[in-house]
Amino acid sequence: MIIILDGRTPDPDLRGVLKRLEEKGFRHDVSRGEAKIIIGAIGVPDAAKANLAEQLSALSCVERVIPIMKPYKRVARDFRPEGTQVKVGDLALGGPRLHVMAGPCSVESRAQILEVAQAVKEAGATILRGGAFKPRTLPYDFQGLGEPGLEFLAEAREKTGLKIVTEVMDPRDVKLVVKYADILQLGARNMQNFPLLRQVGKVQTPVLFKRGMSATIDEWMKAAEYILSGGNEKVILCERGIRSFDSQYTRNCFDLAAVPVVKSLTHLPIIADPSHGTGVRSLIAPMARAAVASGADGLMIEVHPEPSKALSDGQQSLTPREFASLMKEVRRVCEAVGRCL
Ligand code: PEP
Ligand code: MN
Repeated sequence: MIIILDGRTPDPDLRGVLKRLEEKGFRHDVSRGEAKIIIGAIGVPDAAKANLAEQLSALSCVERVIPIMKPYKRVARDFRPEGTQVKVGDLALGGPRLHVMAGPCSVESRAQILEVAQAVKEAGATILRGGAFKPRTLPYDFQGLGEPGLEFLAEAREKTGLKIVTEVMDPRDVKLVVKYADILQLGARNMQNFPLLRQVGKVQTPVLFKRGMSATIDEWMKAAEYILSGGNEKVILCERGIRSFDSQYTRNCFDLAAVPVVKSLTHLPIIADPSHGTGVRSLIAPMARAAVASGADGLMIEVHPEPSKALSDGQQSLTPREFASLMKEVRRVCEAVGRCL
């Protein structure tokens, strides 16, 4: 880190700062200018030193402390500069092949999930999505089928060979959902549910980690560090739109610039969810094409046999026929950017 002090700092105060650095095992190098004193400090950050930058900032002679290394060391690109491919059975997310996760917002019945599974499989999806535990804004809204919903998903996997991604909201449910899911989804509303992050850090099932609706990219990376530092390095990030001032035409502001930003910050794969990102059926295909062009490693798309009867998110769900035509467009963009589907 770099520590900037007022140039008039008395020597004893400067020595005090240097001593603090030495105590924590940092080497230092002091440059004295007329207006500022600049200390370059080099050391390996660990939990015992986590507060040092903040503590030094609180000294009256210190004007600013500038960290050099990213605080999220396991998530940072430097941890694995070649990039990570997250294996889900025989699939690899983050490799040359793009993966599409498609299915209804909620698992509503056995017939519904089996029908959608067949349709998205035929169109080229490799992973079936469907919520059995739903994070709803209102307690009176459909909350999901719970374990029977997971059983229907497992049956759909058996019949189609698709992998399953489904949400877990409660740390106490992680054991149960792990029994059925190939990928655990952590939703936007739980991005900073730290007990839940710690719990999924203890298992080896891959995690689809959605960005919080009001989270900065830095907060998202720091939250992902909880999962990796807990022991589960199989994390796939998912951009799903953030809150903005204008919700007249879109549900969220689909932050596609986050895709290349995240690729530069981390080695983890990232997929994009234009369904929640826009909240509007007609915007899903254009934003799916743009997401693939921006470098996303996959897509999450909501598909329902009859969107007008969906128990959640019907307005942003494609029919199986619309989904099949989106897949054709996505295939062409994949070819243009050197990926395959
Ligand atoms: C979902 O995938 O249906 C969902 C609730 O997503 P998010 O957490 O992004 O709102
Ligand atoms: Mn949804």
